[in-house]
Amino acid sequence: VSDLAGRQVTVAGLGVSGVPAARALRGLGASVTVVNGSDGAPQRAQAAELEPLGITVRLGDGATLPEDTELVVTTPGWKPTSPLFLAAAEAGVPVWGDVELAWRLRGPDAPPWLAVTGTNGKTTTVRMLAAILEAAGLRTAAVGNIGVSLLDIVLGDEPYDVLAVELSSYQLHWAPSLRAHSGAVLNLAPDHLDWHGSMAAYAADKGRIYEGNQVACVYNVADPATEDLVRAADVEEGCRAIGFTLGTPGPSQLGVVENILVDRAFVANRQQQAQELAEVSDVNPPAPHNIANALAAAALARSFGVPPAAVRDGLRAFRPDPHRVEHVADVGGVAYVDDSKATNTHAAEASLGAYEHIVWIAGGLAKGATFDELVLTAAKRLRGVVLIGADRALIREALARHAADVPVVDLDRTDTGAMAAAVREAARLARPGDTVLMAPACASMDMFTNYNERGDAFAAAVQDLASGRGPDE
Ligand code: ADP
Repeated sequence: VSDLAGRQVTVAGLGVSGVPAARALRGLGASVTVVNGSDGAPQRAQAAELEPLGITVRLGDGATLPEDTELVVTTPGWKPTSPLFLAAAEAGVPVWGDVELAWRLRGPDAPPWLAVTGTNGKTTTVRMLAAILEAAGLRTAAVGNIGVSLLDIVLGDEPYDVLAVELSSYQLHWAPSLRAHSGAVLNLAPDHLDWHGSMAAYAADKGRIYEGNQVACVYNVADPATEDLVRAADVEEGCRAIGFTLGTPGPSQLGVVENILVDRAFVANRQQQAQELAEVSDVNPPAPHNIANALAAAALARSFGVPPAAVRDGLRAFRPDPHRVEHVADVGGVAYVDDSKATNTHAAEASLGAYEHIVWIAGGLAKGATFDELVLTAAKRLRGVVLIGADRALIREALARHAADVPVVDLDRTDTGAMAAAVREAARLARPGDTVLMAPACASMDMFTNYNERGDAFAAAVQDLASGRGPDE
């Protein structure tokens, strides 16, 4: 901790992650400069908050490395190819993300980390894991990319036995010295490729979660790329590769046998072949992708010595977060489901696979994704499609290629009121027994502040529909 005192540290970016990082670094005695490319009213307000603490804020130039910088601490939005990082590399200055900073600042008696990454299911799995650890009587918290700053936890006074940590690919990219007790990659599908540059680079960043693991590297048997990442990792001696599967588990795996979640990896002794953990119906909701999440959470908890009964009790206590395949209402025999959190094609594929006849509301920011595969697998379930958002043409073209007979309404709108119009169009297309599923397969920032706001707009429009009120546009 002390070795940051008097150091010249540059923080790349303000916002929810940059401001606390700058404060913390200043609190540790570092000499801090925050740089930020944009220079608007919100940035000026944040600068006004930091400057009285003796922090220098440079707005309007995010590309030039301040003179004498010894360390750059970056916020997640900045791409690795940003000129600031190229300048840092040239000057031999290290770049750390917020996770690296937290890892380096943790105290000698710091709790071990059980870490989770993957394209989809991270938040759900980390919350399930925290619920299981709590059921075992351990002092824990769900932290990281989930919205609770690791820095706050590490520098805070609250004592913990173990942390359930969600890590994004961005955070892993800039966390070279992180060494988790155990780590899991849930799945790997194209996402954020515009940030990482390529699928290989994205996968490699996810794979960093396994580096230096002490007890277990947890991978998805159905997703061999995750096992490849385990093989490529350099781990502590004795650390095991543990698979999870929706099928019958092999040795060193967790899986499902006759609707029971079963552990064949962390058995009590050689005689015992398998340990029953919970019933499938204990998982909320018991959809296939969510059972996979539960198995991954169970594997991490078991690697920390949590007993089987606590896995069951924790899964029973777990409640899903909003906007994740959330049933909003039934109107005229049609179910309306909010999966606003399906911000990429892999997530949308999971929820599209869960219903028979679907009117699909889709579109937004594609982040470099293609939609052919998703449309191909979903085609026979689609009653109709309503498109909104900036990159909707990509989905419309994929539909024309692979599902030409499915009716498509292209609203050609990116304003916030478009969601209400989309719900009305979807209601027109749907028949009793159908599901109207808002699983956009895209990010929300073209139309909304975030996926929460998008989901709320959908729910409000459905409520209007249910009450027979006119649209509020
Ligand atoms: P993340 O934190 O990785 O974004 P969430 O738990 O918030 O993950 O879930 C995001 C979306 O991904 C959900 O809306 C759900 O439809 C989908 N999803 C959840 N778990 C999985 C999984 N294991 N595989 C595929 N899709 C999933």
